[in-house]
Amino acid sequence: MSKTPIISVHDLWREYPAGDESIAVLRGVNLDIYAGEMVAIVGASGSGKSTLMNILGCLDRATRGRYLVNDRDVSRLDADELAQLRREHFGFIFQRYNLLGDLDAQANVEVPAVYSGMSRPDRHSRAAALLGRLGLMDRTHHRPGELSGGQQQRVSIARALMNGGDVIFADEPTGALDSQSGTEVLKILHELHDEGRTIIMVTHDRDIAQQADRIIEISDGEIISDSRKDGKNIGEGEQQLAPSDDASSVASIRHKHGMAAFTDQMAEAFRMAIIAMRAHQLRTFLTMLGIIIGIGSVVSVVAIGQGTQKQVLENISGMGTNTIDIFSGRGFGDTRATRSVALQAEDSDALAKEAYILGSSPVINSSVTGRYRNITANVDLYGVSEQYFTIKGMTAEKGILFDSDSVRRRAQDVVIDQKAQKAFFADGTSPINQVILVGQLPVRIVGVIEDSPSMQFSQNPTVFAPYTTVQARAVGRTRIRNITVRVDDKVSSTAAEQAVVHLLSIRRGTDDFFIMNSDSIRQAMEKTASTMSLLISAIAVISLIVGGIGVMNIMLVSVTERTTEIGVRMAVGARRSDIMAQFLIEAVLVCLIGGVLGIALALGFGAIFGKVTTQFELVFSTASIIAAFACSTIIGLIFGWLPARNASLLDPVQALSRQ
Ligand code: ADP
Ligand code: MG
Repeated sequence: MSKTPIISVHDLWREYPAGDESIAVLRGVNLDIYAGEMVAIVGASGSGKSTLMNILGCLDRATRGRYLVNDRDVSRLDADELAQLRREHFGFIFQRYNLLGDLDAQANVEVPAVYSGMSRPDRHSRAAALLGRLGLMDRTHHRPGELSGGQQQRVSIARALMNGGDVIFADEPTGALDSQSGTEVLKILHELHDEGRTIIMVTHDRDIAQQADRIIEISDGEIISDSRKDGKNIGEGEQQLAPSDDASSVASIRHKHGMAAFTDQMAEAFRMAIIAMRAHQLRTFLTMLGIIIGIGSVVSVVAIGQGTQKQVLENISGMGTNTIDIFSGRGFGDTRATRSVALQAEDSDALAKEAYILGSSPVINSSVTGRYRNITANVDLYGVSEQYFTIKGMTAEKGILFDSDSVRRRAQDVVIDQKAQKAFFADGTSPINQVILVGQLPVRIVGVIEDSPSMQFSQNPTVFAPYTTVQARAVGRTRIRNITVRVDDKVSSTAAEQAVVHLLSIRRGTDDFFIMNSDSIRQAMEKTASTMSLLISAIAVISLIVGGIGVMNIMLVSVTERTTEIGVRMAVGARRSDIMAQFLIEAVLVCLIGGVLGIALALGFGAIFGKVTTQFELVFSTASIIAAFACSTIIGLIFGWLPARNASLLDPVQALSRQ
């Protein structure tokens, strides 16, 4: 009776490029292997055994020739279909075990089942059962480094059996073992064979080969003999395509599909990423540092920007919404301004008479030394009219504000602010009716104004005197610096501005003055603030990119360093997308954790800042923090993509041989 072999090779060639030529390592191999056989491939070192084995195990592709597995032409299968074939039907045992060093025995055995979508509890119990059966019950949570060679090889056998392992490929399985462990491993292989599995074993040792039913001898890439020990003809007495009992029991375990399998694999990739990061803590931290600094500075910069904005807005609202300041000259920094005719008090009076103007005051401003008894301090002296207080919305906290009569009389009555009170009357004496010296001028304090936001932009103690008094009696600067008017809220500020310009131009016969309203000041301040934050943001973005490149660099190193791991994962059936996901998740995780630390850094910086100074606070918005999270994820995706792709495109056999 004729049977279909599970493995059928016809005129198989494998050539490696060597310079301009190529070396043929396999030269026209013909071979059929039937289900349930135990085959030993023997030959001298370098004869091509491993090459043949890798092709049979679908880790490598032939250059020419036909290879059928269960009547399916392997050359027609893509990488993921080959992965599926390995995952579902093949099990590999390597000379050097190829266990994943960061995982314990149990987790190593579970790896193939992760890719086949077996549920976690099933995976756990099956791996534990297999390890128990191989005498490693008490070694399940040991890492490969803590196991002897024989124990490691038994773990790798358990791994090969995890998904069933109908066909076991063993390349020099005893090559690295002492004779006792070697004998043990061979015993296990015999048991597996007795269960009905197909065993294909490569060895250079004839004594070991003698243990198989069928010995294929290979020399210089050609099969020179193929014999069965019991003398039966090949293919006789074997069942066709009979999966072992164990393999059918694996098939009966419900495997997850679709979404459930996807989330399970993501969770597994996530765990692997954590393990890999833990294995290289310092390196991971240094990689993160770029991201931490980048995200930290972006979040801080945004917070500083928003804090500035907030303060600007507070100051502006303190200025009154509808005030207009008129200055002489043609703009700030106009050097001829001091030479041109100064604004006059009469200009202010004329403006005050306009129906749309609620109040108008000339402003003379100078910096002088103030003295009370033996206390001296630098003060800002403001010469203003009584209307100034209404314009600025200032009210008396103690005493009274001077009135139009004081202005007319050039009275030496002044109003001080809270800072001045604190500076001169720290002992708690009431300032009212006390006489202080501003510059050379003795003045009597009649009132103290309440703290108002409009005072926040001046740092010095401030003294308000009637402008007439300042002009008549004070020495030093007595020119009117500007006129401040308050426009009726019902009138639009632009219309009022035009009217003011019109009126003053006619009065003065020339337009040697310029106007600032609170709106234009706000715009100017906001522009400065936004220019600043744009600049710092640019620097922060650059540091983020540098951080991202750092992540990419380390991930590329990591891929190179972990090619064997990648090869092993592919050998046990990982798809390209699984490998890609694993490395991408790792990159994203590094960036995300870096992002979280960066945000924490920025918040800590803000807290320290708040403790050190009260004048300015950082404003952290949820939006900027969410944006920082998104940013670090995207950096992880972008800069992790290339290394992840490189990893996923590795050839299993190449990855395995690069040790
Ligand atoms: P062995 O029978 O010892 O397992 P191999 O199959 O590993 O022999 O190698 C057979 C020959 O193929 C050796 O001469 C080896 O140098 C060559 N060879 C194996 N892999 C490669 C490769 N990737 N590139 C070039 N030559 C290779
Ligand atoms: Mg070899």
